[in-house]
Amino acid sequence: MTPTFQYTVSFLEPGSHVYHVRLHMTNVPQGRHTLSLPVWTPGAYEVQDFARHIFDLRIEANHQTITLNHEAKNRWGFESVGDASSITLDYKVYAFELGVDTSHLDPSHAYWNGAQLFMWLDTYQKEPYTVRVQAPTGWKVATGLDTDPEHPNQYLARNYDVLIDSPFECGTHQTLMFTVDNKPHSVVLWGHGNENADEFTQDIQRIVEAQRDIFGSLPYDHYTFIVHLSDRGTGGLEHLNSTTCGVSRFAFKPRKSYRRVLGLVSHEFFHLWNVKRIHPDMLGPFNYDQEVYTHLLWAMEGFTDYYAGITLRRSGLFSVKEYLKGLADNLQAYEKEPGRFVQSLAESSFDTWIKLYKPDEDSKNRTISYYLKGDLVGTCLDLEIRHRTQSQFSLDDVLRRLYIRYAAQGIGFPESVYQETVEEVAGSSFQEFFDRYIYGTEPIPIDTVLGYAGLTISRTYKDLDKEDDLDATPDGSPLPLPWLGIDTRVVEKKVEVSISYTTGPAANLLQGQDHVIAVDGYQIQTVDELNERLRRNYRIGDTVTISIFRRGQLMAIPIVLAEAPYNKVDVEPIKDPSQEQQAFFESWMKAPLIITEPN
Ligand SMILES: [Zn+2]
Repeated sequence: MTPTFQYTVSFLEPGSHVYHVRLHMTNVPQGRHTLSLPVWTPGAYEVQDFARHIFDLRIEANHQTITLNHEAKNRWGFESVGDASSITLDYKVYAFELGVDTSHLDPSHAYWNGAQLFMWLDTYQKEPYTVRVQAPTGWKVATGLDTDPEHPNQYLARNYDVLIDSPFECGTHQTLMFTVDNKPHSVVLWGHGNENADEFTQDIQRIVEAQRDIFGSLPYDHYTFIVHLSDRGTGGLEHLNSTTCGVSRFAFKPRKSYRRVLGLVSHEFFHLWNVKRIHPDMLGPFNYDQEVYTHLLWAMEGFTDYYAGITLRRSGLFSVKEYLKGLADNLQAYEKEPGRFVQSLAESSFDTWIKLYKPDEDSKNRTISYYLKGDLVGTCLDLEIRHRTQSQFSLDDVLRRLYIRYAAQGIGFPESVYQETVEEVAGSSFQEFFDRYIYGTEPIPIDTVLGYAGLTISRTYKDLDKEDDLDATPDGSPLPLPWLGIDTRVVEKKVEVSISYTTGPAANLLQGQDHVIAVDGYQIQTVDELNERLRRNYRIGDTVTISIFRRGQLMAIPIVLAEAPYNKVDVEPIKDPSQEQQAFFESWMKAPLIITEPN
């Protein structure tokens, strides 16, 4: 007889921030057993040691208390003796961390991510689990799990992976519904701000339809969008047939800010294919006890970012101009980071556990984000495949083949398969491409590939103040600015160095956490004041003395101002695109190349 597992989660006093969790197991064989809690949650590649929130554990076998031994940070052992087939474990979980990959309980709602609440027994991860919910009166439950047809407050997970891949949102949230391909989709909104819930729901439907068009069908019976509106920043976590998106409550206006909200939803939804189903074999089934290593997060996260944007364009939610603006902004951010010449995409992926999720003041000098560069390399790879195949094939075909051959069979692929599939689709070698831009740190061929589509990139300087008396070049375009080579931010009313660029004139002179207080003996109090003082009163090549406090010690450091990196990147159509370029663009973007939209 295989063991059965039934969870009950109760939270009748939500103000305590404590979940009472009961795991009832039957048919547990006689002998020694281990109960474990994940140390991380899939999609957030960071060891979070969720067991730190667990307390007051008790275990009974056939109504008799037995001993539970704490054997490791996330592991407990017990011995079932005699006919101890029925085991009940009770424990409490403190949950007051509002995030998409954490758990939160207060009088306004209950949200949990399964990795924080649910343990597994021994190696029993393939068995079905049920979850019974005991919530305050009047609270609703939203989750990606199926409801038990016989028990309306009970939910069914076909195995442990699905159990912890299905977060719950319980409370008095708004629920909006739509269907695509006769499949119900719910949009669950906790909190309020300047959202237009109906318009948001319609826009999400367009995202679902545009992404469905790439793969042809939707591989689930129902899908749940959990959206938290609060004063926190923006972030999301993907799941098999649900997602949780945390959105700043006033992010729905203006349009520029709403674009980021749509970008987030589009990214998380696309993950249902890319990473939840199409993934390297290290990313599922998971080892929840420790870090898992892959060199492919640029494909899982960066390409998901690329498709988030391109499907918003194809759905009509982003105009061509908006899409190209987003591309230009990414390019500018990428080209500003010295770390792009230090760390490859493959290394960035492998080291995510110790680098991307643990940034410090020097990270931009030494690392590159697999989101940022991965998105741009996705653009390059897609356009290069299209170019080599006269637009017969694209990166879409790579994903579709990986989906059919692996994901649809419920398995991951060996890492080498990614490049092989690209080469098979394109009918030619991509060894040099992978060596240079994925395993190496060479500048990406973005200018070349955008040229295929009749686009050109300009790298210039912002005209910061057209009215003032700054010198300009003879054609009136702004001149390069003098540059100190640092970024600053205000911390506790002090202007603090957040990074000293290794490519800047202050490298080895100013360092992270220095407090900047004066330029040539005159006080500065804000970041803007520092930047304006330098811009208006100095030229490239001038020496300025920067006064700082370093660990409480006053210091004056002379620095020769260098030429600032360009701060304005634009991607625009070339003047006279050929018919070939226009057709290429249209096939990629599903819109004509001539941009006639207003600003
Ligand atoms: Zn993602």
